[in-house]
Amino acid sequence: MISFDFDYYKPSSLDEAVETFNRAHKLGKKVMYYSGGTEIITFARVNTISADAVIDIKGIPECNVLELQGDKLIIGAAVSLNKITESNLFPLLGQTVKQIADHTSRNKITIGGNMNSQFIYREGMLPFLVTDAKVMLAVKNEVEMHPLEDLFNKKMDKMTFLVQIHVDTSYLDLPFINLKRTRMSKVGYPVVSVAALVKDNHIRVAFSGVCEHPFRSTVVEGVLNDTSLTELDRVDKAVAKLPATIVQDIYASAKYREYVLKNVLTDTLEVLEAKK
Ligand SMILES: Cc1cc2nc3c(=O)[nH]c(=O)nc-3n(C[C@H](O)[C@H](O)[C@H](O)COP(=O)(O)OP(=O)(O)OC[C@H]3O[C@@H](n4cnc5c(N)ncnc54)[C@H](O)[C@@H]3O)c2cc1C
Repeated sequence: MISFDFDYYKPSSLDEAVETFNRAHKLGKKVMYYSGGTEIITFARVNTISADAVIDIKGIPECNVLELQGDKLIIGAAVSLNKITESNLFPLLGQTVKQIADHTSRNKITIGGNMNSQFIYREGMLPFLVTDAKVMLAVKNEVEMHPLEDLFNKKMDKMTFLVQIHVDTSYLDLPFINLKRTRMSKVGYPVVSVAALVKDNHIRVAFSGVCEHPFRSTVVEGVLNDTSLTELDRVDKAVAKLPATIVQDIYASAKYREYVLKNVLTDTLEVLEAKK
């Protein structure tokens, strides 16, 4: 049961959604965009979040797009993880999100919800980081395009509405690997999760579960691509250059995470070096 009352809006256009948000916000209400709703409902039930109003984005056409338009793949924020996998339009993304939660939950969980999750993992973001994706945001009354990378290491402002993600089609069929390691079962939060691909003879890697937010690092990639070193040295040096400290939580100690990360990076190099 949810212990607080809230207004529910389901706008049918982007403008209506933003106007509804701004109106409620001006009245001092706490407003949230609502996509799959799985996280909002879970946290509301245990009273770790509250809201005066939620704006369900699933009725907005732009948020439900999943198609190739010219040289871009456009993915709406309200598209479910299962739809992305079933479309097979972007295999690295499809395989990465297929490892999030169970099949039934993935019918509800959306890519926009995953990328704005309060959890540290946000694994759906990894394929977008290695493909220089751009995001369409509705900020106040403006619709803006931004490189995802400008936003990746911070949570979006609550006023900002993620509408779509755009990926250049030249990235969609590049050689890739995605590896996820959990504490126990196949379904679980990642101890380490990586999505990697080869572009112009250069390996690109994005990480989740390792630090407090998903990340991609040019310094780490520089070391991983330094073929003057042995693969073992590349992995050791890359891990020494992580942009933040390694997470320690109930799923894994920082030391164990580091050990798993080194194994995952060794496997990643082995597979992708052969595909260069
Ligand atoms: C069983 C289970 C296992 C899971 N395992 C994993 C895992 O292994 N890896 C992983 O990464 N995640 C995992 N998750 C977390 C899941 O991906 C997130 O909880 C995700 O937020 C749920 O998506 P949703 O569409 O239901 O989001 P919602 O509940 O709708 O929203 C989540 C948050 O995002 C905000 N939001 C939603 N859409 C937008 C938008 N378009 N613009 C701006 N803000 C928005 C909401 O306001 C809210 O704060 C798991 C969840 C479950 C239930």
